[in-house]
Amino acid sequence: MYKRRCSILIIDDQETIITMLTKILEEEYVIHCADNGKDGIELAEKVCPDVILLDILMLDMDGFEVLEQLKNREATKEIPVIFLTSLKEDINEEKGLALGAVDYIRKPFSASIVRLRVHNRLKIIEQMRTIEQLSMIDQLTDIPNRRNFEERIKSEWGRALRDQLPISILIIDLDKFKQYNDKYGHQQGDALLVAVANVFKETLKRPGDFAARWGGEEFIVLMQNTDLAGAQEIAEKIRSSIEKLETMYQGKTVTKITASIGINSRKRGQSSAINEFISRADLALYEAKNSGRNRSCVFKEDA
Ligand code: GH3
Ligand code: MG
Ligand code: MG
Repeated sequence: MYKRRCSILIIDDQETIITMLTKILEEEYVIHCADNGKDGIELAEKVCPDVILLDILMLDMDGFEVLEQLKNREATKEIPVIFLTSLKEDINEEKGLALGAVDYIRKPFSASIVRLRVHNRLKIIEQMRTIEQLSMIDQLTDIPNRRNFEERIKSEWGRALRDQLPISILIIDLDKFKQYNDKYGHQQGDALLVAVANVFKETLKRPGDFAARWGGEEFIVLMQNTDLAGAQEIAEKIRSSIEKLETMYQGKTVTKITASIGINSRKRGQSSAINEFISRADLALYEAKNSGRNRSCVFKEDA
């Protein structure tokens, strides 16, 4: 598999140091350089490097201030910074680490130590990213999990309010899934959940659409900039695709599964809380179950 080359931003006002570090690291990494703090911060925002190597003693803006500014900006606050400096006193190292630097290397440096420290740091970053990704994905179906959804809805909700956009939600619950499991076994049930997750991947194409496994045999879909009519259309597509799913069991096509869907839509300018927005879709789902299953119902104020 193709692996993206990691990138490193060097911020140092001495040309010779930049040249030396570039030589040490360019074989393995993509290198960006800046010879002052201001340009360094701008470049960090633009290229979002995996690691920054930062000098402390620089004219105009020293490395401590550069680090503080990086930490104050949304785009750069998570980028790990390693100080590389001629300041030898512990007090400076302490200050740098307290400000949030991940490491502190003293000049003159050995090429292999710089290489190893950068390498080790990148390994930690990669492991952290893997853990983060795993914690956001449902292991069975490989779509976002509930935690991921809860994060996502906060930002989408804020955007809908700010930009006065309609936003809609669907809660999808498989019908009589317990019976399905009892009849064909849990493994077959799992395979069906994977197939249902694939329906979302195939049906939802817009970047503002987001589907997650809400729990058990329940899924949830958030659609930014989608009004009630749009949400109903998508719900119907999902319902009918699930109904058409075919799974094989002992060489035969297995009985069809169906789903019930609760729909709720927030109109432009209408205010309600996220929890209420979701629980209203849940009420609509309840209605869909009660009125015969294999259908979608819209939340209505007077229902
Ligand atoms: P209803 O139409 O009212 O929704 O009936 P139901 O049987 O789908 O509802 P109920 O909530 O009683 O049962 C849900 C079942 O979903 C129970 C459980 O066995 C099954 N289930 C939940 N999570 C999983 C899973 O990860 N894998 C499998 N195979 N089954 C699951
Ligand atoms: Mg359920
Ligand atoms: Mg169910």
